[in-house]
Amino acid sequence: LHPEHPGMKAARRWLAGGAKKLLIDGNWVEAQSGRTIEVLNPATEEELARIAEGDKADVDAAVAAARRAFDAPEWKGISPHARTRVLLAIADAVERHKDELSALETLDNGMPTWFSGAAVNMCIDAIRYYAGWPSKILGTTNPTDASNFIYTLREPVGVCGQINPWNVPLLLVALKIAPPLACGNTVVLKPSELASLTSLRIAELAQETGLLPPGVLNVVTGYGQTVGAAISEHPGIDKVSFTGSTAVGRSILLASAGNFKRVTLELGGKSPNIIFPDADMDKAIAAAVNGFTRNSGQICSTGSRLFVHESIHDEVAQEISRIAGGLKVGSPFDTDTKLGPVISATQRQRIMGYVDSGNQDGASLMTGGCTLGERGYYVAPTVFSGVTNRMKIAREEIFGPIVAIIPFKDEEDAVFQGNDSTYGLAAGIWTRDIGRAHKVARAIRAGRVWINTFGETDPVMPFGGFKQSGIGREFGIDSIMAYTETKSVQVRF
Ligand code: NAD
Repeated sequence: LHPEHPGMKAARRWLAGGAKKLLIDGNWVEAQSGRTIEVLNPATEEELARIAEGDKADVDAAVAAARRAFDAPEWKGISPHARTRVLLAIADAVERHKDELSALETLDNGMPTWFSGAAVNMCIDAIRYYAGWPSKILGTTNPTDASNFIYTLREPVGVCGQINPWNVPLLLVALKIAPPLACGNTVVLKPSELASLTSLRIAELAQETGLLPPGVLNVVTGYGQTVGAAISEHPGIDKVSFTGSTAVGRSILLASAGNFKRVTLELGGKSPNIIFPDADMDKAIAAAVNGFTRNSGQICSTGSRLFVHESIHDEVAQEISRIAGGLKVGSPFDTDTKLGPVISATQRQRIMGYVDSGNQDGASLMTGGCTLGERGYYVAPTVFSGVTNRMKIAREEIFGPIVAIIPFKDEEDAVFQGNDSTYGLAAGIWTRDIGRAHKVARAIRAGRVWINTFGETDPVMPFGGFKQSGIGREFGIDSIMAYTETKSVQVRF
């Protein structure tokens, strides 16, 4: 268990505390079924922990608690400044346990410690960013005539059901907790059954601040088909915010129609990263490699379709393969490791299926294309060049360290091919021509565009998808709008 990591001792102590429970109404309780789920360390395939296997009955209890808490004066009646203090206290607690959370995330998810360390910082920044919002959630006034005026209020939506994936839990838990609480809502959170531990630990730290009334934050772990489905159907939940795959997003949208829940869906992607011949090539290539290998490609905005101008396609493909092929894949606790394992045996098998598909479709495999090691779910960084946008590896989200390099003829062709996807989450543009950069940024149908950078995250920058990459936006002011309802009031005098 790598005792040399500064957070390992604390992480181990916490793990030794026994099976992890559900947080309902301010208490840590076992699932009503009494069942637990085994959590594996993806680097060793050994049991790391057991988490409660919640089901519909636990969701019912959590929703009832969240509703009581929403209506109670201890939460509803507090000032925006008090909500700021709650969130700042949670962020401080997370900061004090930074190393422990980084170690825990690496054990649970397999991401290298350089990435889990960065993820804790992103988590803290996001909570603090939303801590600043409560006193700045404003309405409008409109004095329509001499004896009349109309004003608007932004009020909390109510009980929010928050469903997360496993890929970057530390960041996503901040995004699912801080904005709804900043706006005065209450939360029922369901982390992924594959990586729940840091969400549970952060919920514990949040409770330990002593500032959250019981029921304001509830956590129900368990499987998607039971806990996730119960949340999306639940008549007592006013809003559902889901981050995960497009297929599950569709079922959530359908299930949430019963009581017309407000819905935010942050779904999959197949993001184009476009390198024009006038780009700063060293920077573009380094970012392109990072763009598909970071977190072993298990990021929704991974630059999985790399469009390279036909005049430089072969040399760029070679350089990318050389760099990617030299990246260290290994124990996520080794400080020089760039890629840890992928999350599970199933995910590794899925990824290898796409390698077969690329080979069968006639793409050139430049490096990788294999699993690594005896134990742990390791996949080598894999580069396919000479890909066409019609091939399966260019159309479907792989969620692994695979890039499809696709040649393009000119600007128009790059935009056409970049947009020729059912997804529209993110895009990258590399050029020194500022006019072209802005023109292409507007022409690309994606919720986030990076110019001469790729994959950066800042809580001020709204994120979300066009097309089948989702509905709505999170981060920035957009989360505040998404967790409030507008009420307009007319006064005649
Ligand atoms: P997933 O859709 O399989 O699962 C996500 C969550 O939904 C999990 O908690 C799961 O238990 C739950 N779930 C599964 N079936 C459900 C159902 N029928 N009803 C309700 N909930 C259900 O996704 P994943 O494999 O955990 O994560 C990978 C996916 O997440 C990728 O597609 C990736 O692009 C996407 N993602 C998107 C963003 C974004 O912001 N757009 C960010 C991270 C990940």
